[in-house]
Amino acid sequence: MARLGSWIESHPEGIYVRPADAWIDPSQPKAKAMVTHGHADHARGGHSAVLATPETLAIMDCRYGQQSGVQPIAYGESLRVGDVDVSFVPAGHVLGSAQIVLEHNGEKVVVSGDYKRRPDPTCPEFVPVPCDIFITEATFGLPVFRHPDTGSEIDRLLHRLQSDPSRCVLVGAYALGKAQRIITELRGRGHQEAIYFHGAIERLNQLYQDHGIDLGELRHTGGAAKQEMAGHIVIAPPGALNDRWSRRLPDPVTAMASGWMRIRQRARQRNVELPLIISDHADWDELTSTIREIAPAEVWITHGREEALKHWCMTHQIKACELNLVGYEDEDD
Ligand SMILES: [Zn+2]
Repeated sequence: MARLGSWIESHPEGIYVRPADAWIDPSQPKAKAMVTHGHADHARGGHSAVLATPETLAIMDCRYGQQSGVQPIAYGESLRVGDVDVSFVPAGHVLGSAQIVLEHNGEKVVVSGDYKRRPDPTCPEFVPVPCDIFITEATFGLPVFRHPDTGSEIDRLLHRLQSDPSRCVLVGAYALGKAQRIITELRGRGHQEAIYFHGAIERLNQLYQDHGIDLGELRHTGGAAKQEMAGHIVIAPPGALNDRWSRRLPDPVTAMASGWMRIRQRARQRNVELPLIISDHADWDELTSTIREIAPAEVWITHGREEALKHWCMTHQIKACELNLVGYEDEDD
């Protein structure tokens, strides 16, 4: 009998599903790509054909311009691609993010893409799908990574804002997903004030709003006087935290929302005064409890800190291996 999943090939540039003649999240342009979500290291432009959720396709259009050969697939819809039954189910990572479920010759394989298990007001929550092989990320695959409760991190941000109304709090947040999630989490904690944003996240804010995510009152920093922003929150991509642009802000307290803020050195590197541990990836407990819940025969690990998770699987009698894909960054948090 052939080994489990022998129809799926791991290449440095992505996962190739042979009987579908299609690649998952390839880092190079391909004839046929299935894309889990819109982050740049998973969704590249220039494929001849793309299968993804309508939200992910909208994000790709927003970032790369109109893509050719696109085919939308809604959550829960099933489609035959070559000799494989394919469906997309929610991954809880960002708007439109999906796990890809593949069925072929009586075997079921789930490719998680990036995922998390905690509630996120901007996307439907992760759906566990029992399968033979679970292909998972491991961005935060070390026991040291345990993300705190999101609400308490948001409260720390609000407390800091209120403690000095003459300053603004500048929050560095990844432009796709994290920025809009921070805004909706703030709204959920009762913060109804206008929130200012850096121009680089304007189109993605608009895209989220077009998909029914209520972000409340937003204002572009470009049109605002310095003093008007005192006592307010300003959201910007991480790259803008220490650049000249921030000089237009009233004495900003620099914050950053990322799972990496667990590591003090990363916060120091960016001169972050208020590190907020808010992640769009599963932490160690979420990774291991998800594997326990899905109970696959095998776990294949795509990117991140593979060793510790592999070891954990072995000690729990689950066969595990690393795929060594290249090109996936772990900065999208
Ligand atoms: Zn991602």
